[in-house]
Amino acid sequence: MIDRRSFVGGSALLGTAGAAQASPCAEAAAPAPHRPARSIAVEEAFAVPEQFEAMRRLLDAGGTHDLEVDRWRPMLSNMSSRRVRELLDIDGERLERMTATGLSMHVLSLTSPGVQTFDADTAVGVAAAANDRLAEACRRHPTRFAGLASFAPQDPRRAAREIERAMTRLNLNGLIVNSHTRGEYLDAPKFEPILEAAAATGAAIYIHPRLPPAAMAQYYMPLTTGERPESGFYTLMGFTAETLLHGMRLIVSGVFDKYPKLKIVLGHMGEGLPYLTWKLDSGYEIFGAYSPSQRTRKLPSQYIKENFLFTTSGFFSQDNLEYMHRVVGPDGIMFAVDYPYYKMEDGMAFLNATRLPKDDVDKLAFRNAERVFRIPSA
Ligand code: MN
Repeated sequence: MIDRRSFVGGSALLGTAGAAQASPCAEAAAPAPHRPARSIAVEEAFAVPEQFEAMRRLLDAGGTHDLEVDRWRPMLSNMSSRRVRELLDIDGERLERMTATGLSMHVLSLTSPGVQTFDADTAVGVAAAANDRLAEACRRHPTRFAGLASFAPQDPRRAAREIERAMTRLNLNGLIVNSHTRGEYLDAPKFEPILEAAAATGAAIYIHPRLPPAAMAQYYMPLTTGERPESGFYTLMGFTAETLLHGMRLIVSGVFDKYPKLKIVLGHMGEGLPYLTWKLDSGYEIFGAYSPSQRTRKLPSQYIKENFLFTTSGFFSQDNLEYMHRVVGPDGIMFAVDYPYYKMEDGMAFLNATRLPKDDVDKLAFRNAERVFRIPSA
């Protein structure tokens, strides 16, 4: 119960804080934020016709057994919708908006769920087609586009060959995976060829969210209606919880002891992982290890600092950025917008307002992306 006195006191306090923030003198006293010379946004979605066609074939075949493709039904039934247009476009409106907002480069990746809902043969074909188109876009605009290659975890051996082709022959810049593949995560032994190929080619793997697997999804269904899985709760909480789980599984399974140079990138301010750092270490010390069968060589916080990078995609909070910068350091953060789901204008306004030290703003805006994704300096 809030008694009347504390309620009145609370609102008086809020009133004072609000007045101080609104004061023009306080604004003028702060130094202007540093504007970085280059901006590279690293989680920018595109789509290829082959992907939409394969999704439509899944829908036309009746029950997809995959809530995620079902979620796209309204969009795929109107191929002239704004969102479809934005995803299929690379050189047109996207490039114009980049120029208008001062955004130097998009690191493109096939929009979630990528190829991971298809059967293995379809997935392998669509991934190759998407990577070819992506490489062409990067060749057409080498200073404006870089790309993360898709692969089909449904067939780990062919995935490894596609990773090799994408990184060495197509000169793409890293890899994208849309979290689980039919309820399985990259720490599963069957995916070993994928991690080996990533390590061998030095490719960082961006783990992008998607809807949780069915067993987990039921708990993220709309809370009251029990209807279609399109509520914010399902996508926002489901996406975050599932991708966080993926990152934590990689840590506790010992993947980074085997591949100490492997880099994993998580968007959306790290899907909550940086926030749990202290708690994970304390749990490790109290319980000895998370997995009874094996003990990782290092504390979770060390893997978080050495093997992960976290991006600002669709999460434009200066408080979260400053926290992440403190916990993981200036070399572990990268700028991202999450276009077209979030606006470039909002992302650039956020980047241009950060109050991190000047050198660290440059690391956030472009230097870390250049290093991790092997993008030539401008
Ligand atoms: Mn995204």
